[in-house]
Amino acid sequence: MGPGHAKFKFDDDSRSTQLSKALLLRIFNYFTPYWKPALLVVGVLCLSAVLGLLPPILIQQIIDRALPERSMRLLAILVLASLATTVISGLLGVWQNYLNSFISQHIVHDMKNQMYRHLQRMPLQFFSSVRQGEVITRMTSDISGIQGVFNSTIVNFASNLFVLLTTGAALFLMNWKLALLGVIVVPLFILPTRKMGNMRWKLAKQTQEKFAEQNQVIQETLSLSGYLLMKLFTREEQEYRSFKRTNAEATQLQIRESMAGRWFMMALTTFTSIGPMLIYLYGGYLFIQGELTVGTIVTFVALLGRLYSPVMQMTNLYVDIKRSAALFERIFDYFDMEPVIVDQAGSGPALAAGKDIVFQNVGFAYQPDKPALHGVSFTAAAGTLTALVGPSGAGKTTITNLIPRLYEASSGRITIGGTDIREFTLDSLRSQIGLVTQDTYLFNGTIRENLLYASPDATADDVEDACRAAYIHDFIEGLPEGYDTVVGNRGIKLSGGEKQRISIARVLLKNPPVIIMDEATSSLDTLSEHYIQEAMRGLLRNKTGIVIAHRLSTIISADHILVVQNGSIAQEGVHEQLLAEEGIYRDLYEKQFGVKDGATTGIITSK
Ligand code: ADP
Repeated sequence: MGPGHAKFKFDDDSRSTQLSKALLLRIFNYFTPYWKPALLVVGVLCLSAVLGLLPPILIQQIIDRALPERSMRLLAILVLASLATTVISGLLGVWQNYLNSFISQHIVHDMKNQMYRHLQRMPLQFFSSVRQGEVITRMTSDISGIQGVFNSTIVNFASNLFVLLTTGAALFLMNWKLALLGVIVVPLFILPTRKMGNMRWKLAKQTQEKFAEQNQVIQETLSLSGYLLMKLFTREEQEYRSFKRTNAEATQLQIRESMAGRWFMMALTTFTSIGPMLIYLYGGYLFIQGELTVGTIVTFVALLGRLYSPVMQMTNLYVDIKRSAALFERIFDYFDMEPVIVDQAGSGPALAAGKDIVFQNVGFAYQPDKPALHGVSFTAAAGTLTALVGPSGAGKTTITNLIPRLYEASSGRITIGGTDIREFTLDSLRSQIGLVTQDTYLFNGTIRENLLYASPDATADDVEDACRAAYIHDFIEGLPEGYDTVVGNRGIKLSGGEKQRISIARVLLKNPPVIIMDEATSSLDTLSEHYIQEAMRGLLRNKTGIVIAHRLSTIISADHILVVQNGSIAQEGVHEQLLAEEGIYRDLYEKQFGVKDGATTGIITSK
C-alpha cells in the first residue's frame, strides 16, 4: 500500500457502526431540500394505511348486514366500495413510488456531485494511497446504495409503522379484549430480533469482506499491468487457486447468510397462526354467547394479518439500519478527508515570467519519519535551464512536484520572484507551469481534443503550429484521420516518444513561463531522439526550465546542473565543472554513461 495511508485511513472495517445522533442529523441534512415531496410521501403512506383498513371492514359489513338482510343493493355498494378502495390504493402506490424515486435519485445526484467536487480537490497523495478501484466504488455503488436505503429502510419503516398504528387502533376500537388476545403473541416476534439481527449483520459483513478480497484479486490480476505480471511470472495457477478459495468461502458465507434466521422465521410463522386461533376460540365463544357477530371475527382475523406482517418485516430493521448507517459512514469518511492543499486566505495571482524559482532549505516527507527531501536549496534562474540528475529514488521527481504544489513542502519555502508559492492561488500557480511527464496520459478522444485540453480556445492554426514546434505535425498528418484520429485506450496506440511530443505540443499551446519536464528514459531510436531534442529546445526557449535529465545532451546544454542524492543536493554547477570535481556526478557519468568523452547522447541515469 502506498504511503500517506495513515493520513487517508478510511476503510477500517473493524469499527462498529453506531447510529449516533450526529450521523442521523447528517443524513437528515440531505433530505432537507426535498422536505416537500417527503411530506407528501408521509401523507400518502398515512392515507394508504387508513385505506388498507377498509376492505376487512367492508367484509364485516357484507357478512353482518348485506347477507343477513338479503340486500342485493347494499351488497353491490359494499363490493364496489371495496373495489374502489383497491384501485385508489394502487394509484396511491404508484404516486408514492414516483415520489420515492424522485427523492432518492435526487439525493444520489446531489451526493455524486458533491463527491466529485470533493475528490477533485484531494491532493495527489490521496490518489496514490487509495486502493485501485476504491474511488469508483465509492462514487458509484456506495452512493447508489443510498437509494436503496431510502426505499427499503426509511420508507418501509414509515409505512410499516403507520399500518401498525392504524390497524392496532382499529382492533382495539372494535373489541379491546379480542385485540389484547391478538397482540399477546407480538412480543414473541420482537424479543429475539436483536440477537438475530446481530448474527445476520456479522455474516453480512464477513460476506462483504470476502467480496472485497475477491475484487482485489480480480483487480490485481485482470488489469493490464497485473495481467502482465501474472503471465510473466507464470503465476496463473496460484492466482486461480487463491481466487477459487475466496470464491468458495464467499459462496459458503452467502448460503449461511441466506439461511440465517430461517428457523426464526419459521417460528414466527407459527406464532402468527396462533393469534387467529386464539381469536376463533375466544371470538367463537363470544359468538355462541351472542356477544359477537361472525363478521367481526372474520374482520378481526384479517386485520390481525395486517398487524403481523409489518411486525415481521420490522424484525429486519435492525440489520437494515446498521447496513444503511455503515453505507453512509463509508461515504462520509470520504467527505471528512480534508483537501490538505488549498488556497490560503488572501492569496493572489502568480506571475512567473522572468522570475527566479528559489528553494530555501526545503524538506518533505511522504511518510512521517522518512524524509524524501531535506535541506534542499537552489535557484532556478529565470529563463535558464536547470537539469536535475541523480540516481533513481534520489528525490528528483519529488522536487519537481513541489513547485506546482502537487505536494506541499513540509519545511523551508519555495518562492517565485521572492513570493512564497503558498501565497499564490493554486489555479494561477499551476497556470504558470507546464508539466511534461514521462508517461503522457492521453484520454480517449481525438488528438485535437487532447491538445485542446490545455487551451480550449486555441485555433486550428495554433494547434498545428504547436505540433510543428513539437516535431509531431508531420506524424499526425500522416495518420489516416490526421488530427481527428482517436487515441487513448480505445484509439490507436502511440509510441512513448510520439506521446511525449504530443505532450510537449500540449504544453506549447498552454505556453506557460515555467516548464517542468521529466525526460523519457526509454531508449529511443536516433530519429525520435533527435525529434524530441528539437521539440524540447522549442519548448524551453525563453522559459524557466527544470528538467529531470536522463540524456547527456540535455545535461550538457543545461545552464545549471543539480545533482540530487538521498533527498538533498549533493553537487551543483555546469557539466565541465562537475566533471572536474570528485563526486557522484563523475561516478554517474563514468559508470552509467560509460563513454568518457565526445558523445552527446545516451542515458546517464536510469530509473
Ligand atoms: P527520483 O525521481 O529521483 O527517482 P522520487 O522523487 O520519485 O525519486 O522519490 C524519492 C523518494 O520518495 C523515493 O524513496 C521514493 O520511494 C519515495 N516516493 C516517491 N513517490 C512517493 C509516493 N507517492 N509515496 C511515497 N513515497 C514516495
